[in-house]
Amino acid sequence: MFYHQLYLVLLLVLVTININSLALTIDQKSNTVHLEAPNLSGQYHNNRPSLPFSSNVNKIELISKADIINPCNGTFMKTNGTTCGLKEIMLGRCYQYQYIQRGLYLSNTTAVKNCTELYELFESEVRFKPYCNMNMSTYEKYFQRALEGVHVINRAIFWSGTYAITHTYSGHGHNYITLEDTLAANMLDGLMWCGKENDPQGFDYVSCPNNCQDNRWADLAFWGLASKTFAERVAGEIYVVLNGSRTDGRPSYRNGSYFAEFELPNFQRTGPYRVTKINILVLHTPDLPVVERCGDKSIIHLEHLIRDAQFEYICIDDPDELLLIMCGDSWGARECEVARTALRRAWDLKVLGKSNANYYPLSLLLLFFTGIFRQMLSN
Ligand code: NAD
Repeated sequence: MFYHQLYLVLLLVLVTININSLALTIDQKSNTVHLEAPNLSGQYHNNRPSLPFSSNVNKIELISKADIINPCNGTFMKTNGTTCGLKEIMLGRCYQYQYIQRGLYLSNTTAVKNCTELYELFESEVRFKPYCNMNMSTYEKYFQRALEGVHVINRAIFWSGTYAITHTYSGHGHNYITLEDTLAANMLDGLMWCGKENDPQGFDYVSCPNNCQDNRWADLAFWGLASKTFAERVAGEIYVVLNGSRTDGRPSYRNGSYFAEFELPNFQRTGPYRVTKINILVLHTPDLPVVERCGDKSIIHLEHLIRDAQFEYICIDDPDELLLIMCGDSWGARECEVARTALRRAWDLKVLGKSNANYYPLSLLLLFFTGIFRQMLSN
């Protein structure tokens, strides 16, 4: 009974103080510009969208293949076939990567790769060739050449269900290096392609198969080999970013994922380019429920696999740097409120020499006391 009364009194105090805080917050907000943050962490990257832009779905279904001679001619039309300008995009990215982005892991003396040669190695394996005939050796020559001389030491980062945030964190190779930060994968990341026999262009620009029922290796041919070759070339400490709040029902570590099938089994255990330690980073998206954390379900299975392969293992839930990126992405999220206030205060102090956000320590105190009283009441 005493606790209930005390709780009521505290609630009254809370309401009074919060009204004051609110006044301060509103005051402060009027001076603040709020930018719309891009949605990063919830996105799943998919190179092979099963359908084009949703608003065009019916329109595109109604257009038969025969009606479309060349969807890349004149007006832009999104199809689920080969990306228009595939060759030009690949060549452009190759030059951009080597002459502008240069310096990621290329030293000043690294020989520049011949972009035309790389494109031709790629094209010779796909153009005029049926997509479903491809297999895990189709792109061997391309990767041998494009990844020649590449070894990523202590900076390689892998992702599974966390494409967008991992790339924000890697900083396009400035902080860490993902597969897509290598020339070989950069040239094709986000693009689609499939060859077509008896076609003057040799590519199908209208529709690529979504899956090849009789040959699953065809679907894995490019990204499977890309993942395997990259994994063989990383060394020292590596990082893997997993999604601990997947909303698609998949576990954080999933058998059959590219990471499980092509990356983890190909980390070298011996030799000059051996992996020593695997750092697992499990992220939990603000405002979404926690599905798995370090030491849970599928992550226990992953830990066993890593330890059995005799790599050192550590698992960290939501490292600070990634927390900040997640909150930057979900600025309004409940879990990010304290960070928002603390940042405002720190920046006001830095820039103005004083802070209006003086309700911050009070909020923390109130949160603390409310927690204690809730605990007492539940006992
Ligand atoms: P994920 O679950 O986020 O899947 C990544 C992409 O591959 C998604 O588009 C997914 O739909 C598709 N995918 C996953 N498993 C598949 C399968 N068995 N068959 C066909 N498509 C499948 O994460 P993941 O599967 O672990 O792959 C990510 C890892 O593999 C990364 O570390 C990256 O190095 C590499 N990878 C990159 C790309 C890319 O497009 N850049 C694609 C695949 C794999």
